[in-house]
Amino acid sequence: MPRPVVDISGARYSRLKVIKLHEKVKDRGARWLCKCDCGTETISWAWELKNGKKKSCGCFNKEIVKQQKTRLSHGLSKTRFYRIWFAMKRRCTESKNELFKKYYIDRGITVCEEWLTFENFKRDMYSCYLEHIEKHSEKNTSIDRINNDLGYTKENCRWATNEVQNQNRRNREGN
Ligand SMILES: [Zn+2]
Repeated sequence: MPRPVVDISGARYSRLKVIKLHEKVKDRGARWLCKCDCGTETISWAWELKNGKKKSCGCFNKEIVKQQKTRLSHGLSKTRFYRIWFAMKRRCTESKNELFKKYYIDRGITVCEEWLTFENFKRDMYSCYLEHIEKHSEKNTSIDRINNDLGYTKENCRWATNEVQNQNRRNREGN
């Protein structure tokens, strides 16, 4: 016996108002014609409406993406802090670059998954960055891996002056 379809016409789920039954699909339930607050009509499964998987015709997600882009372009994206994050990711992923490949990729130096998202990197490293540049200036602040054989993670990174970086380099080369 197929389960009877519960009538949800007229119900509202976030931005979507259910207009009428679109079709019943054997063993999978029913799809409903909905109208989004933005005016676009869309077909949705009842389950995706009920568990919040679908909140709009797609306009909601587009707005979020747009907001994030705006925030980046008007927020930190032009700052040195952002460029440091961007360069760090490049070093560990851009295998076409021979130096990156030799010193990072082939050695298994990676950026931890969390830090692939700028917001997470900022959460972990921004306040100590600000402290460091206050003492040593922006130019004299770069990201340093405490253990050179390990990758970029919160535990293994700190801000260092050029002097400290050079000192580390000399120590490594001396080994
Ligand atoms: Zn919409």
